[in-house]
Amino acid sequence: MNKVQAAILASRSYPTFRQRLSVHDCRLCGLHAGRTNLVVDRGNPAARLLLIGEGPGADEDRLGQAFVGRSGRLLDQMLLETGIDPARDVLIANVVKCRPPENRRPTREEAGACLPYLHRQIALVRPKILGLLGATAAEHVLSHDPGRKMSKIVGNCVEVESLPGMVVMPLFHPAYVLRNPRKRGEMLDHLMGIMARL
Ligand code: SF4
Repeated sequence: MNKVQAAILASRSYPTFRQRLSVHDCRLCGLHAGRTNLVVDRGNPAARLLLIGEGPGADEDRLGQAFVGRSGRLLDQMLLETGIDPARDVLIANVVKCRPPENRRPTREEAGACLPYLHRQIALVRPKILGLLGATAAEHVLSHDPGRKMSKIVGNCVEVESLPGMVVMPLFHPAYVLRNPRKRGEMLDHLMGIMARL
């Protein structure tokens, strides 16, 4: 880790962290090679809900904002349906900040290289509720067995020793709901559960 990365991780406020990371030419993993923009987040850092996805897609890479493609639009729609304002009530980020080629899952090495940024994000935002969108976010934030089925944990509050006082809930990834529209109702129920706790 070089001095710039150390300074990013030492940021004492979210705006400082965000500004430093968004302009940093991070090359800690190979994903830097294909990126147009390093994507830090989208939404309100003062919100009590932090949602974590997998990584930027093509639209996010192009625009430099998290969840602004088809999945993001579906997510916003479902949040609004449950009374959560995506611009006011949520901050959305990803496990990796640079787009994996062909939208593949980030490798363990890539995610491992990027996780210190996510951990600092969580520490600075200190959300009341942390929603983990999909298996990759659940795997890396909960450090659980990657083979463990999402269906066993999705929609349930999980205790995480390193995140005391935080409600942590694995959720479906909106891209999964796009592919499986019958899961939309279940996802809405989970978001209602979050809304009730906010
Ligand atoms: S994915 Fe993360 S660790 Fe890899 S180059 Fe981008 S910001 Fe750095």
